[in-house]
Parts: sequence; structure tokens; C-alpha cells
Amino acid sequence: MTQITTPELAELVAENQALRSRMAYLLEQAERNHSIMMRHQAFDLEIVGSSTFPELVGAIFRNLPIVSDLDAVTLTLMDEGADIMTVMAKLGVDFAAFPDLTFVDNVEALGFDLGRRNAYTPPPKPQLCMFDPARHCHAFPDAPARLQSVALVPLLRNKRIIGSLNLGSVDPARFTPSLGTDFVEHMASIIAICLENVISNEMLKYIGLTDSLTGVYNRRYLDRRLLEEISRARRQDYDISVMYLDIDHFKRVNDTVGHHGGDEVLREVAARIKAELRLSDALARFGGEEFVVLLINANLDSASFVAERIRASIAASMIEVSPSVRVSVTASVGVACLDRRDNGATVDAAAAELIAQADSALYQAKDSGRNRIVSFRPAA
Ligand code: GH3
Ligand code: MG
Ligand code: MG
Repeated sequence: MTQITTPELAELVAENQALRSRMAYLLEQAERNHSIMMRHQAFDLEIVGSSTFPELVGAIFRNLPIVSDLDAVTLTLMDEGADIMTVMAKLGVDFAAFPDLTFVDNVEALGFDLGRRNAYTPPPKPQLCMFDPARHCHAFPDAPARLQSVALVPLLRNKRIIGSLNLGSVDPARFTPSLGTDFVEHMASIIAICLENVISNEMLKYIGLTDSLTGVYNRRYLDRRLLEEISRARRQDYDISVMYLDIDHFKRVNDTVGHHGGDEVLREVAARIKAELRLSDALARFGGEEFVVLLINANLDSASFVAERIRASIAASMIEVSPSVRVSVTASVGVACLDRRDNGATVDAAAAELIAQADSALYQAKDSGRNRIVSFRPAA
């Protein structure tokens, strides 16, 4: 049996202690990595589950700084022709709520080294470097003080750059050129898929609710919105009114200026109606040369007042259908207000009744000579 000497024992104890503390350190690291992974998984799940553009962008800005311990997170999106911005604004997205979201209309503005590109050029890599206010002012328009290092990560879909995810830290060693980029690239690829997905969903939603000729809402939208607004008006006890507008002798207009000219007239009439409305009102092309306006918090008198302004604005000046052709048009309008005494009817019945009343008032306007408004007055 070999004897262990005291110095050897002391050495073993020391080695044992070193191993234990090394193990404790590794365990702590493993636990930390596990918790980071769990946070990232929760983040991925939340963004994958976002069904609207504001929901997704909001989740990224709210959670990514916490999940990844960052001091700045911004997004720059490619939006040639400002289509995304236009559609989102029409769907009611409030861009003021997202100061860290910016749009650019050309890929060069994103600041990646694109060089000479062809089909075989690999996509650009993330740029990890020290923060330079002059170079990075577009990516970080509102950079927090003491920002030290940044990562500009291209958002790629099928090798196409759809934007840039910009990460910033007050730690100068957080993003250095020598660091691996697999992790941020993976994160950016999930964000890019989610962004593309919600943007196309929102575009489809927009197409399904709008009239492609005039850009105003379509009948499907107005029918649905009317039901929501009637329920709300009943709950909160305020007036809503409906205006039914029909262009006078539109067949003649088409005969005079042709179908394309007629289309131009429809666009201009839609624009003139819109110019007289409040943001909370909804304008839809109901079909052909007929428009319906839903006015929120408006009684019969105030709705009739707006209707008269619209009628006057359409009749006031000729519409230019081409540089050499101008045409005069007028419109007739029927106005009706939701009868708040009749809360017993179902919302569907109340909506149908309200539209029918405005339509019947319109019929009277046509019958009594056109280019006029008639308000529907229910029998006392
Ligand atoms: P009224 O004063 O009684 O309303 O007469 P009107 O000629 O306007 O009435 P009517 O409803 O009979 O005719 C509507 C015309 O609108 C018929 C159709 O050719 C035209 N129209 C419907 N949709 C479109 C469209 O999308 N573009 C153009 N240019 N014309 C359209
Ligand atoms: Mg008609
Ligand atoms: Mg007509």
C-alpha cells in the first residue's frame, strides 16, 4: 500500500478544489447559456406569432434589447416607391410609435459593401465595428449616448436585401470585426422571414379592402366597418350617419370622354369627397359611380352640412381627364342618421336600414332634379 504524503495530499485537495470551482463555473455558464437560449426561443416564438406589422415591429423593439442585452435596436427597411409605408399608413399604422423604424428607397443607402454583384456573389455579411456617428447616423438616427460598438446585419430573403437590423451596445468589445456572426445572422434570418410574411399579409389585407381604381375602401370594408361602428355608437351613445352619393348622368360622361376618361372622373370625385372628410370617417366606392361615406359622431344636420360641401366641391370646377379634355360633373347625395331610439333591432338590420334610408333619400335627390342633397327624416 502506497503512503500519501502530506504535501501530495495537499496537492490533491487543491486540485480537487480547482476542479470543483471549474465545474461550478461551467455549470453556471451552462445555466446562463440555457437561460439565454430560452429567452431567444421565447422571442422567436413571439415574433413568429405576430400577425400584423405593428405587432411584429413592436415585439422586436420591445424585446430584443432585453433578450440580447443591447442598448439600441433599430430597423431599416427597403421600400422602393414607398409602397409599404403607404399601405401601412392606410391600414392605420402609427409610425410615430416606432421612431427606430426607418425606410430607404435604395439598397445602397443601407450602407453594406455590395461591390460588383452578380447571381453568384454571396450576400453581404454583417458589419461589426465601432460606432461612428457620421457613418451610422442613418442606422441609428436617435443613438443613445455612449454607444460604442454596432452590428449592421442585412435582412435577406432569397438573396435579396429587404433591410437591415441594427444592433448597438455601450460595450466597445461587444461587436468587433473578429467576432463570429453566425448568431446575429440566424436572428436576422428569422426576423426577415417574419417581416416579409407580415408585410405580404398586410398588403393582401389592404388589397381585399380597397377599390383598386380609386384607392378608397370597397363595399366589403364599409359593410364590415358599419357593423362595428353601429355597435360602438350604441354602447357609447353617439350619432353616426351615412351618405350615399351617385354621380349624375354618368353614362353621358362616359359617352363624352370615353371609359378611361370616366375612370379619371371617378378618381377625382373620390379625391374631392375625401378632402371634405375627417380622418375618422370612412369612404368607400360601393360600385359603379356610387360612393358611401360613414360619418362617425355626426348627426343628420352635421352630416348634411358635409354632404352639401362635397356636392358643391364636385360641381365647383371642371375635372381634367387629360391635358386637353375637361368635363363638368355633378352628384346627388342622400343622407341618413342612425335612429338611436331603435336599439332593439339587430346590428345587421340597423345597418341595412341605415343604408336603405340613405339610398331612398338619394332617390329623392335624383327625382327632384339631381345635383342636390336630400336628408332622410324618419316619420316622427
Ligand atoms: P343617374 O343620374 O340617374 O345616376 O344616371 P347615370 O347615367 O349615372 O346612371 P346609371 O347608374 O344608369 O349609369 C351608371 C354608369 O356608370 C353605367 C356604367 O357604364 C358606368 N360605370 C360603372 N362602373 C364604371 C367604371 O368603373 N368606370 C367607368 N368609366 N364607368 C363605369
Ligand atoms: Mg348609379
Ligand atoms: Mg349615376
